[in-house]
Amino acid sequence: MAATDNTRRGIGVSPGVACGPSLVLERRRAAVSAKTLDVAETASELGRLAEAVRRARAELEDLKVRADAALGQGVAQIFDAQMLLLEDAMFLGEVKHRLTERQQNAEWAVRQVGRDLSSRLSSISDVYLRERGTDVDDLTERLLRALLGEEGHRLDQLVEPVVLFAHDLTPSETAQLDPHMILGFATDIGSRSSHTAIVARSLEIPAVVGLHDITSALQSGEDVLIDGDAGFVIVGPDHDQLQEYRARDAVRVSQAEGYLADRDLPAETLDGFRVTVLANIEGAADAQSVLEHGGEGVGLFRSEYLYLRNPGVLPSEEEHYLEYRSVLEAMAPRAVSIRTLDIGGEKLLPGDPAASQTGAESLLGLRALRLALREREIFSTQLRGLLRASVHGRLQIMLPFVSGVEELREARGLIDEARRQLVDKGHEVAEVVPVGVMIEVPAAAMIVDLLADEADFFAIGSNDLIQYMLAVDRANDAVAHMYEPLHPAVIRILWHIVETARKKEIPVSMCGEMASEPLSVLILLGLGIDQLSMSPSAIPLIKNVVRRLSREKAKEVLERALELETASAIEDLALPQLLTALRDPTTD
Ligand code: PEP
Ligand code: MG
Repeated sequence: MAATDNTRRGIGVSPGVACGPSLVLERRRAAVSAKTLDVAETASELGRLAEAVRRARAELEDLKVRADAALGQGVAQIFDAQMLLLEDAMFLGEVKHRLTERQQNAEWAVRQVGRDLSSRLSSISDVYLRERGTDVDDLTERLLRALLGEEGHRLDQLVEPVVLFAHDLTPSETAQLDPHMILGFATDIGSRSSHTAIVARSLEIPAVVGLHDITSALQSGEDVLIDGDAGFVIVGPDHDQLQEYRARDAVRVSQAEGYLADRDLPAETLDGFRVTVLANIEGAADAQSVLEHGGEGVGLFRSEYLYLRNPGVLPSEEEHYLEYRSVLEAMAPRAVSIRTLDIGGEKLLPGDPAASQTGAESLLGLRALRLALREREIFSTQLRGLLRASVHGRLQIMLPFVSGVEELREARGLIDEARRQLVDKGHEVAEVVPVGVMIEVPAAAMIVDLLADEADFFAIGSNDLIQYMLAVDRANDAVAHMYEPLHPAVIRILWHIVETARKKEIPVSMCGEMASEPLSVLILLGLGIDQLSMSPSAIPLIKNVVRRLSREKAKEVLERALELETASAIEDLALPQLLTALRDPTTD
């Protein structure tokens, strides 16, 4: 719908419409002042700190148990990360140091250390690491409340259903959300991959993020409506707006139920083009959800979550092995593509006390495979874990952020070496473990012919490919309007990738967000991409969309799109085609 005066636009991250009274969470920071202690007071201050840590840990354990029951392990792991921070030298070690060496009071030391660590994390270009700053903020406030003897928000004790507004939701706030009481939520900041967005999708609660200052513009108790598809918030919706949205939402809900019921039907176009629909996951715990949504395998396992779970500790070979074995067994005989470490920033691995001393790491810096090839022991540990797990299912190894053939050769060399080490030690390793390349850097896209000679498959990472093609930071909402998946440059590079891969007879999948956007799917079908990978909850809808389209018609749309000058002209061409097909598949 068109934006009107009472409408605010943000980023829709979890579909659906919610209307009801607003509840604005005030991000009240505990008031803290600095004191210099006598040396004699240090011991009792350390005692106060130890008691606050004990209380914080007990709260986190309680939250973890409740989150595990309500939201599943993926969310509950957030609290493990915070519990580990409580033992981390960078955090608690530094707080104690300030107490004993600088005679600071505990509140001041906690506030200062929390602020330093959080600002270092939030200046990092890698979205996942940047969001670990939220864990630090959450833990800092929890410790301060414990030191000051204050209670936190109790979102689990709401008496009426509300639409929640917050600057950002901390992990513990999100874990307290009761889907029956929280109709939807909206935040000032955030991106598609923020904690808030991830939790909203897993709870299937409508959500809009990136609304800048919505929490200062709004009071609790106002009537609001949020649209998690289009990314709108309407304050004081009028009768017509309410009717329109309620009607649209009723259709959406009944459609979603229908899609879910058909989740196990194959995604085959009207003219018989079969698409394999795969899932993007963050951990082995998500495998169940893949199957429940009709996923036909895992197209992208983002293994970096394994590294981010426990700040300060790198996963051991055994931990890698157990995690990968678990997902391979759960998904067998379906294929699982596990992407190797994709983390940004040179010194930003957990366990490195010098993390980010060098300042923000550039989006063009030592990320992902580049980092893995430099930190070889870390990379080889992961490779050994992967190869050991390979006998438990259909493993494919996927390399992120490749920009040239040398990197691919070097990585393959290390994979071979890891295999030799394991075999020498008497481990079993599957005979064939395909090694694929993510095509997400324009350089790789331009040399797919060369990469094809040395890779077993390609996976297009459209999130990064669009970012680097268009020079638009994918996490910066100031340029979000320029992040255009249907930009002619994007469509042309996709065409080049797919055509070259076809000639080279190498399989291509798409695992960026484009794969779960119906309009883009029309273009992807036109291109002939036959493997799409997406978050599990998007699978039933996309299977349904594919079943209503025809590959021949999609090809025609693509051919015309390749001639057009702008993304909006391409959208204007494709949208009516999509809508017609969705309305009446039989006339397509
Ligand atoms: C991508 O870049 O499209 C992708 C799938 O990887 P990520 O979003 O994890 O960078
Ligand atoms: Mg990427």
